[in-house]
Amino acid sequence: MVKFCSLFSGSSGNCLLFGTEKTKILIDAGLSRKAIFNALNRIDQRPEEIKGILLTHEHADHVKGVGILSRTLDIPVYATWGTWQGCMSSVGAVSDKNRVCIEANKTFEIDDLTILPYSIPHDANDPVGFCMMADNKKVVVATDLGKMTKSLLKVFEKSDLLFLESNHDVDMLMIGSYPPYLKQRILGDKGHLCNEVAAKTAAYMVKTGVTRVVLGHLSEKNNFKELAYITTANEMKKEGIVPGIDVTVEVADRYTVGCVYDL
Ligand SMILES: [Zn+2]
Ligand SMILES: [Zn+2]
Repeated sequence: MVKFCSLFSGSSGNCLLFGTEKTKILIDAGLSRKAIFNALNRIDQRPEEIKGILLTHEHADHVKGVGILSRTLDIPVYATWGTWQGCMSSVGAVSDKNRVCIEANKTFEIDDLTILPYSIPHDANDPVGFCMMADNKKVVVATDLGKMTKSLLKVFEKSDLLFLESNHDVDMLMIGSYPPYLKQRILGDKGHLCNEVAAKTAAYMVKTGVTRVVLGHLSEKNNFKELAYITTANEMKKEGIVPGIDVTVEVADRYTVGCVYDL
């Protein structure tokens, strides 16, 4: 059986849990050690059982607690060379043995987990998403995406759970208080995925066999949970898909530990 849980998701910090009975890992650690340990305790997960941390990219909302977690638990951190370069100063010392360099589009293993880091369009050095397989189940983490591409859709196919970015509502962003350069950054090809594109992606993926979609990485200022959910649910209904029957759709919370999925 495979476990997946969103501990935190959003521009204020990201941290997800994935694993089997034997091997548990975190994907990103963009909060303090205390916040992450508390979240793990809430789902009866001992921090000492975490075997490693995968990093998607070097932005602070993904790496804030990585150095201290690696030092406290003495666990390896897996990141691309570009990500390591980008977060060198912010994560502090990580021992050589715990500093693992991974390559985009090259599969690797951690005990019984098989992990494919895949390139994503985002404004970081060498950012990746993760396609994680174990016990015949496939879970894909897909956040911080400036646009949707055919190769991304291919990675998402037939996943048992797709954790998909639904970052912002374009109208809320446009009329909101962000400065113009930031609006352009978010809307750009290396920014973040809007609700509409997430909705179309999610509806399309259900047709390829995806049965669970968790929407995540919501913007605090330019989105809210109900809007992200209804945008995806409406798009699915247009395609004849009934959320709750044909597919499970949930929205990850920014600060509260989400549902623990046993797949
Ligand atoms: Zn980012
Ligand atoms: Zn992010």
